[in-house]
Amino acid sequence: MAKYNWPHQEAKRIATRTRNKQGDILFETGYGPSGLPHIGTFAEVARTTFVMNAFRHANPDKSIKLIAFSDDMDGMRNIPENVPNHELLAPHLGASLSVVPDPYAEAESYSANMNSRLRHFLDHYGFDYEFRSSTDCYKNGVFNDGLKHIMDHYEQIRNLFINTISPDKRDAWSPFFPVCEQCGKINTTTVTQAHLDDYEVSYVCDKNDEDVRSCGHQGRTTILDGNAKVGWKVDWALRWHVFGVDYEMHGKDLIDSAKLSSKICSILETKSPINYKYELFLDENGAKISKKIGNGVSMEQWQAYAPVEALLLFLLEDPNKARKMGLSILPTLVDNYLKALRTEDQTQPTSALWFINQISQHIISGLQPSDVSYSLLVNVAENLHDGDADLLYDYAKKYDAGIADNEDLFRRLCTHVMAYTKDMEAAGIIAKASPDDVSLFPHLLELREELNVLYQQGEASAEQLQSTVFSIAKRHDLNQRDWFKFLYQSLLEKNQGPRLGSLFSMLEQDRVDKLFCDAIKRNADNT
Ligand SMILES: [Zn+2]
Repeated sequence: MAKYNWPHQEAKRIATRTRNKQGDILFETGYGPSGLPHIGTFAEVARTTFVMNAFRHANPDKSIKLIAFSDDMDGMRNIPENVPNHELLAPHLGASLSVVPDPYAEAESYSANMNSRLRHFLDHYGFDYEFRSSTDCYKNGVFNDGLKHIMDHYEQIRNLFINTISPDKRDAWSPFFPVCEQCGKINTTTVTQAHLDDYEVSYVCDKNDEDVRSCGHQGRTTILDGNAKVGWKVDWALRWHVFGVDYEMHGKDLIDSAKLSSKICSILETKSPINYKYELFLDENGAKISKKIGNGVSMEQWQAYAPVEALLLFLLEDPNKARKMGLSILPTLVDNYLKALRTEDQTQPTSALWFINQISQHIISGLQPSDVSYSLLVNVAENLHDGDADLLYDYAKKYDAGIADNEDLFRRLCTHVMAYTKDMEAAGIIAKASPDDVSLFPHLLELREELNVLYQQGEASAEQLQSTVFSIAKRHDLNQRDWFKFLYQSLLEKNQGPRLGSLFSMLEQDRVDKLFCDAIKRNADNT
């Protein structure tokens, strides 16, 4: 398996930068609670934690800390498709996410709900972080000195910034966005004058777009104590400056923002953090994962369907490669984790298991080779119909008694598999395939006969069953790939599947014969 060097390389860069730093070495992750947190949100925390653990390994005497920052004072720009109660939310577009009501009616605000989902997930897996809410930092005055510092460098920041925007927008540009004292919105205000000595701005509430309405109010307000926030790139620089952040990752889409924020840091006479860029995730269709659309995999789904360790393994792969992530790929990702458990040396700090075990609450060692995989269990579960996780585990154990040595792991897997299979079937997410080549159908009948003969002779092993499948291809000189594809398509309604001998062996005669009966019926219906 690949060596996982990148977190160690990042740790070296950080060590060089922080050689003389007194106090905590500070890592930060950022997150916008504009929609349900997804795997991408979690990925930044997980990957930063990999780097932190690599750093801790090389610098055991240094004290380190992670701030997970939520941009919950940002205005709501649109309503994600996958949250309920759009009519409740619509009037609040343009207001801070922390004052928009919770569409689930569970928390005190929209962002409080999204924040608690992220925190619940991180806490469940024991991540070590300090949560910071942007709204709280502004309102409680944590940012006040930083905001004054920005006001003190108003012209310099303005001059830097306006060169990056179109000429017609330059006059109206200000780093500050006051909260309108009349309608409470933040995306609607324009600063008309900055009163530098008083740390105040005059503004008008006049910005409209398709969905957001301003109220026309004109006012003057202090920029302190949560009455205004600074725009995104200045905001990033503000928190680097106030907290003294040493390291922060960001998606490829934020390269220009990171550069500009670093320049703002120099104006503020603060050393900007080391940044690390990662590629964004794509869904199964190659589309960018977005909170607005709600594609990809949610954290709740991952928690229900798979061990987090499999996700950690996925996230350890080179972050600079664009990767697909979706529910249909999930079984393969879990099987990669099982493979790592069987092949990797967890004592090596560049092995995947070393990184995973720093975080995991389930340290597993000595997992024996076995055909029992997540993918195989999914195929068995699909044919148990009224079965539950205990029954699935019994089937797996009867097939390979060795899995009982890791009973906890396999019981958890069975629970995940049942939840995954049930939900995927209910949602119709996995498209059903049908045979490309129906001319192979007579051989399916032949296989059924021969399997029945084998079963009648007593207990049929996975190897015997598998060689029976092969022997038919051999006898009729069939292309083996086509033959197996045809069997998957006919019996499982899939284009690929597990080793059939293992599946047949685990399912036993009655259920195997039902697969054939169903395939015969489907074939009759189609001809
Ligand atoms: Zn207003």
